[in-house]
Amino acid sequence: MMIVMKPSATPEEVQAVIARIESAGAKAHPSAGDEVTVIGAVGDREHIARLELEGHAGVDRVVPILKPYKLASAQLRDRSVFEIGGRRIGGEHFAMIAGPCTVESREQLLTSADAMLEAGATMFRGGAYKPRTSPYAFHGLGDDGLRLLAEAKERTGLPIVTELMDVRDIEPVIEVADVIQIGARNMQNYTLLTEVGRAGVPVLLKRGLSATLDELLNASEYILKEGNEKVMLCERGIRTFETAYRFTLDLTAIPVLKELTHLPIVVDPSHAAGRRALVEPLSLAAAAAGADGIIVEVHPDPDNAVCDGPQQLRVDEFAEYLRKVEQVAAIAGKVLSGVPA
Ligand code: PEP
Ligand code: MN
Repeated sequence: MMIVMKPSATPEEVQAVIARIESAGAKAHPSAGDEVTVIGAVGDREHIARLELEGHAGVDRVVPILKPYKLASAQLRDRSVFEIGGRRIGGEHFAMIAGPCTVESREQLLTSADAMLEAGATMFRGGAYKPRTSPYAFHGLGDDGLRLLAEAKERTGLPIVTELMDVRDIEPVIEVADVIQIGARNMQNYTLLTEVGRAGVPVLLKRGLSATLDELLNASEYILKEGNEKVMLCERGIRTFETAYRFTLDLTAIPVLKELTHLPIVVDPSHAAGRRALVEPLSLAAAAAGADGIIVEVHPDPDNAVCDGPQQLRVDEFAEYLRKVEQVAAIAGKVLSGVPA
């Protein structure tokens, strides 16, 4: 259920409604918009209906949320806009998250971070824990990688986006991460989603390789349900019959997700494409289609990268790439979210 408060509702009236919802064993998720506060009530429908909240002081109306994902639903609110490390995300704010696939060395990481800062990226990405198809491949530097990410953050001030694969690593990861990335392969790891929901750190949730949008939105609900509202969804390419490129970037997902959810939509052209030459056109298309941000792989020496070399942009071509994306994002009504004033 969604309880829409009157514009004139007082904070005390909002609190009273929350208390009433919780007295029925349900969970209240208030969100204060520009004009009205809306409270999502999640729990036993019958119990909530019996509260007869329509008659409560300050309540304008009670509306059922028809989708199985209640808190992610566009019905709950218009657009989520939130802050990560002082940068605004969502709405008219466009996020450029850039950096190498994986942390390889101090020099590789700091060179990349300096260049991303200089070019005007919003956040810095880099994996310390890597999901790899082969168990014999490089799986990341682990804790050493996290330490280098902490150094990059200290040096540049860029918020860090890094993947958490295993709930056992959550403590060290959240010490460094401004955004926890949940990789495509873990999209439906529900215990992991619940834990990152509880941790309260912003999350970038990647769409599974063969997941429907409905499954993606339900997965995000696991995080939101724990009270963590800072969730970004990421389209990163899905499996289709086409084999000419790594995955098929589902551009249609962008406007469709915008109809279904208030959460910001980020696009990963790198893993979808698998090839550097495709990254720019896919990025421009994503920005034109209304994406709220892009997460892209950039490396100082992609030819010698430990993983995903062929798809990583070169550090020295990033600034020009970003300027083009910025121009297209502007046509879609968005402004690059940069260094806070
Ligand atoms: C990544 O972004 O480093 C990654 C492994 O992506 P995905 O989970 O989308 O494959
Ligand atoms: Mn990669």
